[in-house]
Amino acid sequence: MQELEALNWLDNQPEQYMSAKITINRSCDGTESRGIIFAHPDRIKTLRLRGHLTLIDATHKTNWLGWLLYTIMVRDEHGCWVPGGHFLTKKEDGDIVVEALKVFKQWCGGYGGWRLRYMLTDDSAAEISAVRQAFKPFMDADLIVDHLLYIVHSERTLKRNFAGKKYAKVLHHIIVALKFRSNIHKYRDSIREAMKILERRKDHKKLNYLIKEWWDTSDTWVSYARRHSTILMQIKDTNPVEGWHSAIKYKATKSSIQQFSLKGIIQHVLTVAKEYDLRARKAAIDFRTRRDPIVTEEPWLADFPYPMQKLITQQMKLTNDMVEDNEELMSLEDENICTCSFYHRYQLPCRYIWANHLLYGCLKKEDYERWAYI
Ligand SMILES: [Zn+2]
Repeated sequence: MQELEALNWLDNQPEQYMSAKITINRSCDGTESRGIIFAHPDRIKTLRLRGHLTLIDATHKTNWLGWLLYTIMVRDEHGCWVPGGHFLTKKEDGDIVVEALKVFKQWCGGYGGWRLRYMLTDDSAAEISAVRQAFKPFMDADLIVDHLLYIVHSERTLKRNFAGKKYAKVLHHIIVALKFRSNIHKYRDSIREAMKILERRKDHKKLNYLIKEWWDTSDTWVSYARRHSTILMQIKDTNPVEGWHSAIKYKATKSSIQQFSLKGIIQHVLTVAKEYDLRARKAAIDFRTRRDPIVTEEPWLADFPYPMQKLITQQMKLTNDMVEDNEELMSLEDENICTCSFYHRYQLPCRYIWANHLLYGCLKKEDYERWAYI
């Protein structure tokens, strides 16, 4: 009844919302699983244009029926995260998520409409298997979709599984492998160190866990597997989608959100999404027009969009602290390229480049041009 009411409401709005009802039989126990998918038509356009890298996550406690609210988030061309679509499901299972993702794919224009290349999820088994099934290559020409786990989630899971003093050294090697190893050989060296400790202790349970859950799936969770892509290097946590789900809850009182009907939560989600759109429009205007105050002293900064200006000026401030504290300088590679993580992520001048410039005047006109037109 509530589903019908929600779908009727969606069908009768001037915004011409996209909506669909899905029902499947779960492969695990044959029971029925249901869901409602909805989105403003503009979100589908965004998903087509910006769906190259997509985040997906679910949240509980947004309606009295206890249905889960899922959100697909994408980053627009001005660096703002916006929802790309929403769905509500009665149960938490991979099959219904597969079905929902397929509907979004269809709405985007079938194969090739949603050019998904990277999907980031937390370590929910339902989401992991759903992404694999919904985006398995249909034809040779289809993009292979890489499914990645958030580094913060992997770190949390590892800390949970290797908790306590007993596993401190093992955990240290694995975290180094996760976060700091720059290639597969160095990554394997670190994991082998962890394995050696477990072998010496004959701790077969943890050793098997490490091999089965982590060694074989390194491409999905380690930092080195993302170093080829600056965008992937920039996104390490679930903040965009968690922030969105908090906004949904924050904009309604705790007691009222849990009393929402399905129609009620859908209306609420669409209202909050409009606020996100306004914020994105403001960021689009600021992108080329707003100036950081430092531009008056450093006019070359005016060539950069506002979000880049902010990143660079933050690095300049860090440089001042470094030089004041007499911190040791990291040496630069030829052509003023740095090996630090900020430079890897943004390909912009970092605090070490500024420090070298401040002390030795290493930057030339062509360096500024290279960064401005990257
Ligand atoms: Zn650097």
